[in-house]
Amino acid sequence: MPLLRHVFGLCLLLTLVSCQSPIGGGSHSTYGDRPGPKGFTTVIVDAGHGGKDSGARSHGLEEKKLALDIARRVQKDLAGPFKVVLMRNSDYFVELDERVRVANRYGNAVLVSIHLNYGNRRRAGPETYYWRTDSYAMAKRVQQNLSRMAPYQSSNAGLVRRRLRLTRNPSIPCILVECGYLTHSGESRQLSRSQYREDLAWAISRAIRDQAHEGDAGMGTLPRPIYAPPSKATDARS
Ligand SMILES: [Zn+2]
Repeated sequence: MPLLRHVFGLCLLLTLVSCQSPIGGGSHSTYGDRPGPKGFTTVIVDAGHGGKDSGARSHGLEEKKLALDIARRVQKDLAGPFKVVLMRNSDYFVELDERVRVANRYGNAVLVSIHLNYGNRRRAGPETYYWRTDSYAMAKRVQQNLSRMAPYQSSNAGLVRRRLRLTRNPSIPCILVECGYLTHSGESRQLSRSQYREDLAWAISRAIRDQAHEGDAGMGTLPRPIYAPPSKATDARS
């Protein structure tokens, strides 16, 4: 099929060109040492865990199920103006490095990974993790929206700079959102309600949409890049 081969060749060429391009929405940077994205058209929504890996479990709730539920709601909110890709759309396990490989197939895109948190009983509230300069404003927008709506916020963690596989390794801007603590009795009760999960999804979606429209505008000074190596499975978890 010469036509198919031609299309494949063109795709490969475009991929190579975008890898080397220093600026623009489709550019790749595994260090994220560039401003945040504006005008992106694809959002990859990653529901954490899945299959054999249930993630946190507390108060009768399972992280993998709630993460998928919230991810689907984000997909619904953003579909139309954006192409939305769900990293997983049912209950199966995907390795973290495989999630990075999937994310790297897309240009002009961002990655948002959805999780629920686990900690001591008094901790509550959403937290948003980023590592890279190009992901800071999007993380800040998400965290601002979430903290405006979350009724329980005992910790001040909020916006956290942490090198994780999904905040460091993809070639596109990437953040990880911990929507709340399953281990907090009040917050777990909220998280068990579908309306609350709808509100969480809307808060996240609005932040992504604002980032696409405005880029980093209004989000203050961007943090300096940190040239740290890719995160690996053997890295100590803090
Ligand atoms: Zn998790």
